[in-house]
Amino acid sequence: MSVDTKNIKDIITRMHQQKNGRENQMRKQLIFLGPPACGKGTQTNMLAEHLKLPHVDTGSLLRAEIKGETPNGIVAKSFIDKGLLVPVELVAKIIKDRLAQEDCRHGYILDGFPRSLEQAEALEAMNQELNGPEGSDFRAIYFDLDQDVLISRIVNRRSCSKCGEIYNIKTHPTKVEGICDKCGGELTQRKDDNEETAKARFDTYFHETAPLIDYYKNKGVLRTIDANGTIEEVWERLLEVIK
Ligand SMILES: [Zn+2]
Repeated sequence: MSVDTKNIKDIITRMHQQKNGRENQMRKQLIFLGPPACGKGTQTNMLAEHLKLPHVDTGSLLRAEIKGETPNGIVAKSFIDKGLLVPVELVAKIIKDRLAQEDCRHGYILDGFPRSLEQAEALEAMNQELNGPEGSDFRAIYFDLDQDVLISRIVNRRSCSKCGEIYNIKTHPTKVEGICDKCGGELTQRKDDNEETAKARFDTYFHETAPLIDYYKNKGVLRTIDANGTIEEVWERLLEVIK
């Protein structure tokens, strides 16, 4: 019988972690892949709180840099003002600076990046640079959702015009129709939350992300979650795959 050295190593690492608490834990790195409206935003926030890890949201990060008029933010804005996409190298630089901060020492949950193979490779390179001797535990969590469920979610989605809280008239309605539970603001529907654009967005997403799913599958770090069902059901599945 052959000895599975990897398993033994894993067990030793785990014992080590339990003994020493968080200090020697592997840096936990989670990225979330999934189509728009697959529920990953909600789950990411819940998980960040549960694991006490920072949630690095690429969109918010970029907006904060621009608003704060940081050197990177000013360059990013110059592209956006011309109607151009912010170049991958710049986005990667902004993310790298963020992941190098102290609160990401034990890990992070990254959302909205990578979106292409080029970005996935950039992320891998920065992780290699940033990881300490304790090593890292990298996983790509893929939210797999049926297209018709996704479209129904988008079509039934409403958001509060005041605080931005998201509702769904079928699965997560407000107590009083059209009025936000949190702040009493009026609910609105985004113009592009219709069936046609939902389908187009799904196609774009899939075209963009399918290669990433294969990339992470080949590396053995992909964890697929069935994202159909309630928030609670998906949450239970998520907890299983991050163990
Ligand atoms: Zn509100």
